[in-house]
Amino acid sequence: MATTLQSIRGMNDLLPSETPLWQALEAEARALLAAYGYEEIRLPLVEQTAVFARSIGEHTDIVEKEMYTFTDRNGDSLSLRPEGTAGCVRAILEHGLLRGQTQRLGYLGPMFRHERPQKGRYRQFHQLGVEVFGMPGPDIDAELILMTARLWRRLGLDGLTLQINSLGGNAARAKYRAELVRHFSAHEQALDADSRRRLTANPLRILDSKNPAMADLIAAAPAFADFLDADSAAHFEMLQSLLKDAGVPYEVNPRLVRGLDYYGRTVFEWVSRDLGAQSAVCAGGRYDGLVEQFGGPPTPATGFALGLERLIALWRAQGRAAAASAPEVYLMPVEPECVGAVLRLAEQLRDALPGLSIVSHCGGGSLKSQFKRADRVGARLAVMVGGEELRSGKVTVKDLRGGGGQQTLTPAALIDLLKQSGRP
Ligand code: ATP
Ligand code: MG
Repeated sequence: MATTLQSIRGMNDLLPSETPLWQALEAEARALLAAYGYEEIRLPLVEQTAVFARSIGEHTDIVEKEMYTFTDRNGDSLSLRPEGTAGCVRAILEHGLLRGQTQRLGYLGPMFRHERPQKGRYRQFHQLGVEVFGMPGPDIDAELILMTARLWRRLGLDGLTLQINSLGGNAARAKYRAELVRHFSAHEQALDADSRRRLTANPLRILDSKNPAMADLIAAAPAFADFLDADSAAHFEMLQSLLKDAGVPYEVNPRLVRGLDYYGRTVFEWVSRDLGAQSAVCAGGRYDGLVEQFGGPPTPATGFALGLERLIALWRAQGRAAAASAPEVYLMPVEPECVGAVLRLAEQLRDALPGLSIVSHCGGGSLKSQFKRADRVGARLAVMVGGEELRSGKVTVKDLRGGGGQQTLTPAALIDLLKQSGRP
């Protein structure tokens, strides 16, 4: 016997019982982009490995151990996208979208990271991402945060808290980095293997360590605030005053560094207390140097990405159930000769009532078994088409939800009935 094939661990099927909730979330996400004037960009799922390695950083978790990298038939090194920013920057430069213009872009789609699958952490997961190009000020950073706050309100989610930090300008970050190296080098024997590796390559990343054994050493590390350059400090002050103005509560977390190399100045993260260990729902920040690093003109840029699986989990935890989409009408051929008439009537109903869900019974079977099927799919009306009905030009309509009343109607009267019932 052949072995049963299974999906790849950490890559989930979304079954029909789950997709309504996803569709609802995606609709909210698209409405959010539209409400703030963001345009959609759709990017390939696969890029040259260099697109990610150079931008995200060679010494980040993503590039070091999470990327799905393979050699294609031409011998090129390609990778499944682990995030959207790098591909987005590649695309806007390739298509000249930056020439004298600002851009507010958004996308929705799957990302791939070879992580240890667990609750809230998958190998294929989905993000809503937003990227803004050409705007240097804290105003747009504040807008991004307002956008996410609006999404939580729209979804009816609470208990999300906002953490912000500034990673300063390049010079300040370099100074801080040197200071961190000094601090952690002095305690090298206490560092775990990951941190030791990062010590020279990317010491800021040590602050992002989730190893509890490192917590004390990290807590004792110098704080970035003491190294912040004046311009970045003013930028950060302004962001905070805009957030206060807008009534968005926040917490400054001096240890918030983000796992990717390209961030500077504003970084932020939304965290939920209802998600257990995988508590980060949304993360973002400013990456003013990245476009230039890709060979483009100096271009300020900022954005965020939020994890849809974690949002769905949160939505469910806070009581949101998937709205099942039951058909309005279930059409049944009483005899096999009536199958053609059923398909014709179904088309006629769809012409007259676009948007209404109409299901024709296919596959034969007794009337009893057809009624069972209609019940199982939760249809509101059963419409029986039989030889007698065909001769009289009428069909028998049975209400399956409200008490089971039955009437005989012409197709036109049935259409009127469906129109009156207030559906589309
Ligand atoms: P974490 O600290 O949880 O690993 P991250 O810093 O790697 O997150 P980002 O790269 O900033 O995450 O991605 C933004 C958001 O995407 C996260 O806040 C999270 O909601 C979601 N996300 C990231 N990785 C995964 C994953 N493997 N599975 C599900 N969601 C994810
Ligand atoms: Mg991660």
